[in-house]
Amino acid sequence: MKIIHSPQELQKSILNLKYSGKKIGCVPTMGALHEGHLSLIDGLRDRVDIIVLTIFVNPIQFGEGEDLDLYPRTLKRDCALAKERGVDFVFAPTASDMYPANYGTTITCGGITNRLEGAARPNHFDGVTTVVAKLFHITQPDYAIFGQKDAQQVLVIQKMVRELNMPINIVVHPIVREADGLAMSSRNSYLSESERAEVSSLYKGLLVGEFAFLGGEILSDTIKKTIEKEYEICDFFKLEYLAITDTECLPLERVSQGALLSVVCRTTESNTRLIDNIILGDL
Ligand code: AMP
Repeated sequence: MKIIHSPQELQKSILNLKYSGKKIGCVPTMGALHEGHLSLIDGLRDRVDIIVLTIFVNPIQFGEGEDLDLYPRTLKRDCALAKERGVDFVFAPTASDMYPANYGTTITCGGITNRLEGAARPNHFDGVTTVVAKLFHITQPDYAIFGQKDAQQVLVIQKMVRELNMPINIVVHPIVREADGLAMSSRNSYLSESERAEVSSLYKGLLVGEFAFLGGEILSDTIKKTIEKEYEICDFFKLEYLAITDTECLPLERVSQGALLSVVCRTTESNTRLIDNIILGDL
């Protein structure tokens, strides 16, 4: 496994491999790898010859007052895990490799990015689409894989790829969860011990919504009220939003199979922001 920091060097190596007929797969991450990230590598293995794992804490997708400085950085450990899992290249650029002085190009994917996470985190998705477009140009993938954990991010990337005619197959990987149901996340390391013991009720609330839907409830408001009731008894987090939306992240009044039920909360002790979701009818 090669670890490369320079965008130009990686692009050159990849283009040589592509000219010799190799299929390339890209796994974009911000590092602090856990089993959720590592399962993305497995999700690409049978589709491609070469796997490039990118590790870059992308400053332009963090807003003011967010956790850019705090975000865990564990490159050495990440590289060891990636090697074990059969990655061919780790691409780990610095911020100035990606955004040199006077950098000025931004990709904006309109509409969808003003909603849900985009409404809560202004400019977040401009940062995501810009870095992902750059990573796609650098790694030239035939396939790229993203986790359902960041459901809106998946929809935004799919839209960008479709609308910019990028010749890349986007694979979506299911959410990998801890034994108690908590979605794995690098940010779970911020949780206090007592929060960690309780916070799986975030997912349990989503399951209550799923069961209501499977039981025949189709009114979005009724499903959301049922879930909110479940969350009322949880005093270790505050709900930021609960939404049932379509593929453009627009709210649905009536729910049908495939609707996205997403939740965001902030824990009260460590102020950790947690996101989770379920595709209704997909259990
Ligand atoms: P991040 O490092 O948080 O930017 O995540 C990198 C990729 O891993 C994104 O496509 C995430 O959606 C995905 N990912 C993160 N956590 C999980 C998880 N628990 N299950 C599946 N995919 C995940």
